[in-house]
Amino acid sequence: MPGRNRNMPATPAWPPASTPRLFVEPQLSAGLALTLADAQAHYLGKVMRLTVGSPLLLCDNQTGEWLGEISQLGKRTLDVNIIRQTRPYEPVPDLWLLAAPIKAGRIDWVAEKACELGVARLVPVITQRTIVTKPNSARLRAHMVEAAEQCGRTALSDLAEPVKLEQLLRAWPNERQLLFADETLATDQTSAAKLAPGRAAPAAILIGPEGGFTDAERSAIRALPQARPLSLGPRILRADTAAVAALAIWLYAQ
Ligand code: SAH
Repeated sequence: MPGRNRNMPATPAWPPASTPRLFVEPQLSAGLALTLADAQAHYLGKVMRLTVGSPLLLCDNQTGEWLGEISQLGKRTLDVNIIRQTRPYEPVPDLWLLAAPIKAGRIDWVAEKACELGVARLVPVITQRTIVTKPNSARLRAHMVEAAEQCGRTALSDLAEPVKLEQLLRAWPNERQLLFADETLATDQTSAAKLAPGRAAPAAILIGPEGGFTDAERSAIRALPQARPLSLGPRILRADTAAVAALAIWLYAQ
């Protein structure tokens, strides 16, 4: 019936919900042809078994998300044609997570969750009691990209170079609030939701290492005019739990 057809969406259920989603380097636009290689070609061709004509979603961390179609399968490469834009580049709340690196599996988990929850930037902070001083940036970055691909972000979280706490405090930007998760606070002293500064205001959440901050570090942080202490409740949380809890509270309050 012609009447019915007029009401049909132009592209019903296309691409399907299971369509693979990947971040790529080049800036995307309709009509662009690009070649994927290495791990991405292996994943799409061998793991997902995509063939010529299969749809895929690509993001460039600049313009948003695009629908593409495989045009050719090579031995180790795969050619894609970009068809149309499916989503715009998203605005991300201006929130940084400053976290002391903890052991491998756990910091990877924090990076993944921070990306899923929506942080703009992850900054590994070296404190006096930090045990892991050289986090593996390539591995962390890979976890963050994978998390962004899975959760539907069109903007990647930045991963900053590790920085010493004192250096970070010395160069702290004037306009950025620093929410400092302090497990020594009485719980009735601060409510995380009350601390949320509103969408426009840049903020950062600082979480200590497994051993906590030293007294000297705590005083140095508190001396910063932009610092606001934050309690996450009556129990001492592991550093990774504290990071995710604080992010969820802040983002929920926006
Ligand atoms: N000093 C503690 C453990 C630190 S927990 C000890 O060794 O027993 C690691 C980090 O998580 C802390 O530095 C703090 O930033 C955060 N954290 C854990 N529980 C918290 C709470 N209840 N409120 C605020 N921050 C907390």
